Amino acid sequence: MYEWLIAGGGIHGCTIAAHLLKQNIIRPDQLKIIDPHPEPLAEWKERTAFIDMPYLRSPGVHHLDIKPFSLKQYGKRAGTETDFYGAYSRPSLYLFNEHCDHVIQESGLRESWHTGLISSAMREKDHWIIETEQGDRFHTKNLVVATGVNRRIFFPEWGYLAKRMAPSQVSHVFDDKKAAPVGPIAVIGGGISAAHLTIKLSKQYPGQVTQVTRHAYRVHDFDSDPGWLGPKYMDGFSRLSAQEKRRTIQQARHKGSIPAELNQKLHHLRKKGSYHLYIDKISHVEYKNNQFTLTAQSGKQLEVKTVYFATGFAPDVMSAGFLADLIKRENLQCAHCGFPLVNQHLEWCDHLFVSGPLAELELGPSSRNVIGAMKAADRITAASC
Ligand SMILES: Cc1cc2nc3c(=O)[nH]c(=O)nc-3n(C[C@H](O)[C@H](O)[C@H](O)COP(=O)(O)OP(=O)(O)OC[C@H]3O[C@@H](n4cnc5c(N)ncnc54)[C@H](O)[C@@H]3O)c2cc1C
Repeated sequence: MYEWLIAGGGIHGCTIAAHLLKQNIIRPDQLKIIDPHPEPLAEWKERTAFIDMPYLRSPGVHHLDIKPFSLKQYGKRAGTETDFYGAYSRPSLYLFNEHCDHVIQESGLRESWHTGLISSAMREKDHWIIETEQGDRFHTKNLVVATGVNRRIFFPEWGYLAKRMAPSQVSHVFDDKKAAPVGPIAVIGGGISAAHLTIKLSKQYPGQVTQVTRHAYRVHDFDSDPGWLGPKYMDGFSRLSAQEKRRTIQQARHKGSIPAELNQKLHHLRKKGSYHLYIDKISHVEYKNNQFTLTAQSGKQLEVKTVYFATGFAPDVMSAGFLADLIKRENLQCAHCGFPLVNQHLEWCDHLFVSGPLAELELGPSSRNVIGAMKAADRITAASC
């Protein structure tokens, strides 16, 4: 029987694991981390590499380790001056990932890794039984659900149709298998992933890229105001009802936004003619002779050979896989929005903890981010002491 089992080995699962191990709460042989990928942080690394993201949006004090200045100190030792950007010392993706690997190695969490996709979690007396699609079975005293947005990506209606018409020419930026870029190319979406991808492709295929977004660029340095990281806003948040919390989170998150320096880069590339920007909504798609014709609501038409969707994740996080069954079987408390009602230790019921989107009603708008992982790790480790 394991002491702790963590479902999901992304930023959140690995941060919690690193905290449990580095604070000597458990040894690697008392922990299991289950994730469908053979390596930690696989989805994070793949997604950020594909869009060629040079710097994180979050500051250098947001990382996987237990000490606040760990990444900055690591940068001083191992990095170069260009490894931090701007007033908030945003780390380069390269340095951030190197530091992640360093924390993973130092904590020994690789020894606890098991590759598999969890298909069910059941309570039996004083412990949990976890099963994977591959037929493995584990017993654990404590379970942490850190499965992120549950591998659900979002396409607009016409996107599904386009994918059926020519699967090899269409992909979501978070798909495991990506379409090979052949110009002309459309990038659909107006958020940070779309922005990075547009910049990357317009350098590789100048003049052959069109970004289609339903709204003008929304420029904000962070996903949400930094006031949400501390008592300034969180004190008031903790006193709200679950319904008010959900409304507040929706208003506080700068969904589909980009930081100022990306806006400037895009402006510069647009002026040079490296890419085109359509602020419009695609309403119709046709496919003929290896090429899509996308028709926008304004009537404008766009002919492209490759379509990349950077349209984020599906909002129905809670209906995914083993979670829905777990909620029913254990009669777990959820708010009207379907998300868990948890205590201050992020404990949903005895010995069942959550992180990421699932901890949102307790941790607020930053719950899904790297800082959300650090906060979740602090709360969960505090519960185990
Ligand atoms: C392009 C991009 C840039 C971002 N930049 C920043 C930034 O600069 N700063 C910041 O703070 N945040 C940023 N974020 C937001 C956030 O920090 C990341 O999305 C982060 O990766 C979320 O971590 P996670 O562990 O919750 O989810 P994930 O990284 O999605 O990991 C969850 C893991 O759980 C696995 N899983 C799912 N279901 C199961 C199951 N049934 N059984 C076992 N495993 C399962 C998944 O396969 C996955 O490996 C960014 C996000 C993206 C997409």
